[in-house]
Amino acid sequence: MNSTTTVSLDSSESRAATQEFLAQLRKRNPHQPEFLQAAEEVVETLMPYVLEHPELQQARVLERLCEPDRILSFRVTWQDDQGEVHINRGWRVQFNNTIGPYKGGLRFHPTVNESVLKFLGFEQIFKNSLTGLPMGGAKGGSDFDPKGKSDNEVMRFCQAFMRELCRYIGEDVDVPAGDIGCGAREIGYLFGEYKRLQNRFAGVMTGKGVAYGGSLIRTESTGYGCVYFAQNMLSHAGDSLEGKTVCISGSGNVALYAAEKAMQLGAKVIAMSDSGGTVHDPDGLDEIKLDWLQDLKEVRRGRIREYAENFGCECLEGEEPWVIPCEVALPCATQNELDGEEARTLIANGCRVVCEGANMPSTLDAVHVFREAGTLFGPGKAANAGGVAVSGLEQTQNSQRLSWSREQVDERLQTIMRDIHAQCVEFGSHNGSVDYVTGANLAGFVKVSRGMLAHGVG
Ligand code: NDP
Repeated sequence: MNSTTTVSLDSSESRAATQEFLAQLRKRNPHQPEFLQAAEEVVETLMPYVLEHPELQQARVLERLCEPDRILSFRVTWQDDQGEVHINRGWRVQFNNTIGPYKGGLRFHPTVNESVLKFLGFEQIFKNSLTGLPMGGAKGGSDFDPKGKSDNEVMRFCQAFMRELCRYIGEDVDVPAGDIGCGAREIGYLFGEYKRLQNRFAGVMTGKGVAYGGSLIRTESTGYGCVYFAQNMLSHAGDSLEGKTVCISGSGNVALYAAEKAMQLGAKVIAMSDSGGTVHDPDGLDEIKLDWLQDLKEVRRGRIREYAENFGCECLEGEEPWVIPCEVALPCATQNELDGEEARTLIANGCRVVCEGANMPSTLDAVHVFREAGTLFGPGKAANAGGVAVSGLEQTQNSQRLSWSREQVDERLQTIMRDIHAQCVEFGSHNGSVDYVTGANLAGFVKVSRGMLAHGVG
């Protein structure tokens, strides 16, 4: 199958079927706005294809895809440094394992709830399929906030979380990784506790330290992959990143390494942010400034405004970077951080490329604005798939009991991002331009749906 078999997105039959489908979904999932938003974008783009394939309708593949295989929810009880007892909620949403064991990160943030984890787990199905590696979709996490906690408190929380989670995971069952609030430190504590509880050393988590089974480049992979994807989009359009001004939101794992790769490829990064505000550095970051920022965020766990204080530039307290004129925007912080109004501002200020390092950072409205304006828009499912791709490579190395070199992993990451881009072009080309949203959704879906049909109803 290729994109030429799809019917027009505007067909009234498709629109009516989409509306009916979404009405049912809303009824089944009230109070889950994030999940409904993620599903709406996907269903809207897939419906024309589904209508052309009666076997998919008969097996109710789309309906089954929108319902997780299971949601595990548990209490996490831990003690702070004063001996006070705290109770958090933990979850694992195992969404779909048609093409491989469940795979997806753990998010530790006070905003985590079932809706957020369902949206993330749902998107993960398509993203993992796009990587070409055998990984199903899942996500998990807790409403625990690591910010302001001591290392010992974070350790006790992670150990308590793993005491429950360990029953549901395994290298051939479900392989969690990190996400917001769950970085190298947390993965170390989680993995250590799994090993103690099960008395086995297994590749049951990814994002591990290189000393104990982690992969080189895993830390950098989501940010690097996002920039490789932007580079692929630009190169397909006969352009490059060289000399372009770039605004990046966030200053966490994804944002920092997106900045590093963008700079290596000749772009000028002029803004970064955190939940407190945005720093605007018109001269652009250089290697020294980025090293300083990486130390601030990854080691000292400080705030972005300290960058402005240290390097004498402006800090826009409480603002997103989207007001700053740039040619390339990389939203790398969190969901719904870029709305329709901000999308219009970016375009009016000359932005031509938006590539999502975060998951669903653009609202539905913003996505429509970008698609209508012909912006080169790389959706998160495709653009940030480099992280889970290298996680998949970490699983392979663990199975082989081997470690690959930096160059080997980076080479494979670049190949995977090129392949994902090629799939988007194949499935999303229409009248000479590429709709990357449709391309990513459809390419991811076709493979999973074939597997679901092959496995029979269940
Ligand atoms: P981190 O926790 O390392 O960093 C998150 C960054 O985003 C921080 O700068 C944080 O600021 C900011 N942020 C978080 N929540 C908010 C908010 N509500 N408003 C404004 N800023 C916010 O997470 P990652 O870098 O790992 O993840 C970032 C995004 O990328 C997420 O959407 C994640 O799902 C996605 N992603 C991550 C992958 C990975 O490999 N890590 C893989 C694929 C996608 P502050 O410190 O002030 O909270």
